[in-house]
Amino acid sequence: MMRIAVDGPSGAGKSTVARRIADRLGIDYIDTGAMYRAVGYKLLKEGVSLENTEAVQELLDRTEIDFSNGKIFLDGEDVSGLIRTQEIAGQASACSAIGIVRTKLVDLQRKMGREKSVIMDGRDIGTNVFPDAEYKFFITASAEERARRRCEELKAGGQEAEPEQILAAIRKRDHDDSTRAINPLRKADDAVEIDTTHMSIDEVTDYICREMNR
Ligand code: C5P
Repeated sequence: MMRIAVDGPSGAGKSTVARRIADRLGIDYIDTGAMYRAVGYKLLKEGVSLENTEAVQELLDRTEIDFSNGKIFLDGEDVSGLIRTQEIAGQASACSAIGIVRTKLVDLQRKMGREKSVIMDGRDIGTNVFPDAEYKFFITASAEERARRRCEELKAGGQEAEPEQILAAIRKRDHDDSTRAINPLRKADDAVEIDTTHMSIDEVTDYICREMNR
């Protein structure tokens, strides 16, 4: 059993790298950001106000999230594509600051990591979900480079990309994620930090695999 924690700000390349490492090692990849996105999506769809704690709790009590074949299922429905929008990214960030949302998802993440070897990416995996993970990485890149990658990704998916607006949204999310009161984005003291601004996906993947073999 092995747990690999990969944390860092949005757009640093965590999910692509984590997915590759999962394939190489033959273990499961768990995208915890997708879990916050799924909850954000459902809250938005049902028009539940984030201030209404009781309604949020009620929604959480009847919410099921599963991963299967690299897809995320919300109450049995594949929402992998639906949650990849700027609107849901903002909604995920907002609902991830709510204590009861984090409690539910962190419990679920710990359960997933108890059952089998996993590589999990997010913001608080090395600091909070698995403080005793065997390996911890903190992946960063400059905000400009992350905005550039995000634009490419949107364009590749056929969506409109407004570079200035994307950079502003990334800066806001960085700020919100690292200043929130509960489990903010922070490098664990024992995590290996990798600045990927000038690195390719292959280089980052190889670097991590080398670190794990040391
Ligand atoms: O990684 P991704 O951009 O999909 O995450 C969406 C949002 O979910 C992040 O901006 C962050 O606010 C939240 N999140 C979190 N803790 C995690 C993973 C994501 O708070 N472990």
